[in-house]
Parts: sequence; C-alpha cells; structure tokens
Amino acid sequence: MRKVIIAGNWKMYKTQAEALDFLRGFLDHLNETPDDREIVICAPFTALGTLSKNLHGSRVRVGAQNVHWEDAGAFTGEISAPMLVELGVRYVVVGHSERRQYFGDTDVTVNLRLRAAQTHGLIPILCVGETKQQRDANETEAVIIGQLDKDLRGVDQERLVIAYEPIWAIGTGDTCESEEANRIIGLIRSKLNYPDVPIQYGGSVKPGNIDEIMAQPEIDGALVGGASLIPNDFARIVNYKT
Ligand code: PGA
Repeated sequence: MRKVIIAGNWKMYKTQAEALDFLRGFLDHLNETPDDREIVICAPFTALGTLSKNLHGSRVRVGAQNVHWEDAGAFTGEISAPMLVELGVRYVVVGHSERRQYFGDTDVTVNLRLRAAQTHGLIPILCVGETKQQRDANETEAVIIGQLDKDLRGVDQERLVIAYEPIWAIGTGDTCESEEANRIIGLIRSKLNYPDVPIQYGGSVKPGNIDEIMAQPEIDGALVGGASLIPNDFARIVNYKT
C-alpha cells in the first residue's frame, strides 16, 4: 500500500505569528481526517521551530523548502540538514521549480541536496515538471525522465516522495487535467526501481479539484501552494473525499 501525503508549500509566506494563527484555524478540522493520509506543512525556515513546538503530539509533520548538502561550512545564507533535524523537521522540498528557475538549482545540486537530506533522516519531496514551452514541443516525457535520471542518482527510493508539478500549472489556476497528471505520474512510477514511492500532483490544487485529483489511481497526494495558506481551504484539501 502506498502512503498518501498531502503537503502544503507555504513558499515565502507567513511570519511565526501568522503561522500560529493558521494553526488555530486549521487543527480543529483534523478531527474528521481519515487515518490513511499524512499531512505536512512546508514552511519558511523562520517558522519551523514554532510549528514543531505547536504541532508536537498532533498528526501534522513539519517540512522545510530547501536544504544545503554540506553539514556546516562557509555557505552564507544556507541551512543544513542537521539544523533542520534539530528543529523537528521531517520532510524537505527539493528542486522546486522556483528554486530551479530563480536560485540556480540544477539537477546536480538537486541530487546533492536529496542525498544530504536522506543522510540525516529527512524525507525529501523531489519536484519535477515541464514548462509550457516543453509541453507544447512534445518534450514533457523526455524532460521528466531526464530529471529523474540525474536527480535520483544514489538516492534511496524507499525514503522519498516525488511531486509532479507541471510548471505552467503552478500558481496559475490552470490545473493539469487529472487524467493527464495520472498518466505522467504512471510514467514516473514506471522509471523507478521502488514502485511504492508516493507520487504527488502539484499545480493549482484547490478545494474544488482535490477530490477528482485524488480519485486517480496513480496519484498519491498533493503538493499545495496558494490554497495551503488558507486554513479552511487546506483543511478541505486534507479532508478530500474518496
Ligand atoms: P500552487 O503551487 O498550488 O499555488 O499552484 C504549487 C507549488 O508550487 O508547489
């Protein structure tokens, strides 16, 4: 049985006070959440400690959005895996398209980050996906297979989550058709040597489309940006109906 993981990606939103406010509006909704799903909030570094403390004993896990590959060193502005572990972090997003696009992450650095995360017991959520231009040029499959090939070298697939995030669907309200997301996720699974890796869909997931997305047989969860910032919306997503 593959694990279902619903993760919020808060990106660069929410101070500590705002994070606590979110929890006040969100946690009450979890009484009705079936046990079959793991819930994760991937927050900015500054909110991780506060979240861990306030989520202790709850079923919500804390995730970060990036990790450096060295344990310590002269890397101004970076955060290492041991630093995250000390804060109670369990998951970390690696290779999000915004990191690849704006902050110079490449398949080489993504691979280093994945391995460092696993060395310290963090579960990485590896993001892969194609641009609109690549999709229009019929390159989707080749782009994704190429990313998996390079990103997963030396990575333990039994301690991994993958998120398929078509870049053109992120923050645009333009969701990928759920059948198409299912097809690409099936393709990703066929390239893995451990078939039970949970594979999420990400890109404009909302309360209105989560049930349909989760009804797809290959899709094991969602990585949710904008809608994870709003307690009621994220609660409805986490409590998706089967
Ligand atoms: P979105 O973001 O849900 O706002 O489209 C998803 C993501 O970037 O992970």
